[in-house]
Amino acid sequence: MAKRYITKAVRQLIAERAYYLCEYCMCRSDCACESFECEHIMPFVLGGSNEPGNLAFTCRGCNSHKSDRITALDPLTEQSVLLFHPRNHHWYDHFAWDEEYLFIIGTTPIGRASVDALHLNRKGVVNLRRLMKLGGIHPPKNI
Ligand SMILES: [Zn+2]
Repeated sequence: MAKRYITKAVRQLIAERAYYLCEYCMCRSDCACESFECEHIMPFVLGGSNEPGNLAFTCRGCNSHKSDRITALDPLTEQSVLLFHPRNHHWYDHFAWDEEYLFIIGTTPIGRASVDALHLNRKGVVNLRRLMKLGGIHPPKNI
C-alpha cells in the first residue's frame, strides 16, 4: 500500500469535519463537477503525514493551485507569508465575503496570499456561488 494512501474512513472523517465544504473556497462538494480531495496541508514531499490533523477537504481547483506550497506572497506587502492552514486557522479570522457573498476577501496577509495563490475567486467558483446563492444554499452557515 502506498504511503500516500488515505483510508476511506479517514476520507469520510475529513469530509464530515469540513461539513462537505472546500476548506479554502467554501464551495459545496455536492455542487461540484469533480470529486473533492484530501489535501496535505503540509505537503507529503515536505514531510507532511496522512494524519487527519494534516489533511484538509478541498475541491480539486484549490488543491491544484495550492500544490506543494505552504507560503505565498501577500499581494499588498509583497512579503512571503504562510498560506491559510485549515487546522490551525479559523476561516473568518483571515477571510470575509464581499457584500454579495460572491467573492472572498483576504483580511490578513495570510488571507490575501491565500486568495491569490489558490485563486479563490476563480470565474467558475464565483459563478457556482451565484447559483448556490439563488438556490438558497450559499453562503455556508455551518462554519
Ligand atoms: Zn476550493
